[in-house]
Amino acid sequence: MSMQGLHLLLTYKCNARCRHCFLSAGPDRREVFSSALAKKIIDEASLMPTVNHLFVEGGEPFLFPELLLSTIRYATDRGFWIGALTNGFWAISEQKAEERLQPLVAAGLKSLSISTDAWHEEFVPVSRVNIAVDAARSLGLKVDVMYCESGSATDGAESAPFLAGDIVCRGRAASSLCVNGNKDWRSLTTCPEELECPSRVHIDPLGEIHLCQGLLLGETATVKSVNQIFKDYQPENHPLVASLAAGGPAELARFAKSYGWKPSQGYVDGCQLCSEVRKALKEHFPKLIGPAFVFTN
Ligand code: SF4
Repeated sequence: MSMQGLHLLLTYKCNARCRHCFLSAGPDRREVFSSALAKKIIDEASLMPTVNHLFVEGGEPFLFPELLLSTIRYATDRGFWIGALTNGFWAISEQKAEERLQPLVAAGLKSLSISTDAWHEEFVPVSRVNIAVDAARSLGLKVDVMYCESGSATDGAESAPFLAGDIVCRGRAASSLCVNGNKDWRSLTTCPEELECPSRVHIDPLGEIHLCQGLLLGETATVKSVNQIFKDYQPENHPLVASLAAGGPAELARFAKSYGWKPSQGYVDGCQLCSEVRKALKEHFPKLIGPAFVFTN
């Protein structure tokens, strides 16, 4: 499939520090897109005939309302459909929520996705999510609520939630929530992402292009145009993508063994294995794995 959408990670900063965040975002992060970089990428996306939509996410993009607004307006003026993802922390009342959303709608925002689940609720009450949903609908936005299934821990007295359902173990989730996995690493042979021919990628404030969270294409949008980066992309020359394409996380693990990595446990899923392996490989492939805090925070 050809590239259809670019997702701008407007910031790694977030009001919350969710235990399942696959980008390890949080209040202590400082990285934010410059307005100039956002405009540069949007201009370059205009030169990619198959790219028809942009999505703004984070971190929490509503922490930077002026940047959010200008990015939406700039993308809309250049013909893109644009959506945004938030945790809804700003929806403290119906009036305040509409005040936050109205300028974004006027600038061209079409869709609002709102994340909520047991881990988000540790920071943002679901009452705010409900207010955000109602306000967005009343302003004519398409609204999605993104929910990660959760339940009670089974491993002792502590009733911490655990990952279930369709959640994958990447970033902070891979080390903090994915426990008691029992799958043999050799059985994990599938990667669910389209790494060789992605239909969408995430671009962060550093200009890094993520084929999957923390798996970088290897060229940055700060120094080269995005359209040229994708023209030049040769997945067979990307050692990590080549391994994942050949045999999923298990093949990447075999590749990592030549760098001294050893399996230490059973795994919940292939993404947890992939995350652990990439964490071990990142000093050898600093341009292809990062930013470092995604794996350590
Ligand atoms: S296997 Fe690795 S590259 Fe593929 S989706 Fe999971 S974490 Fe991403």
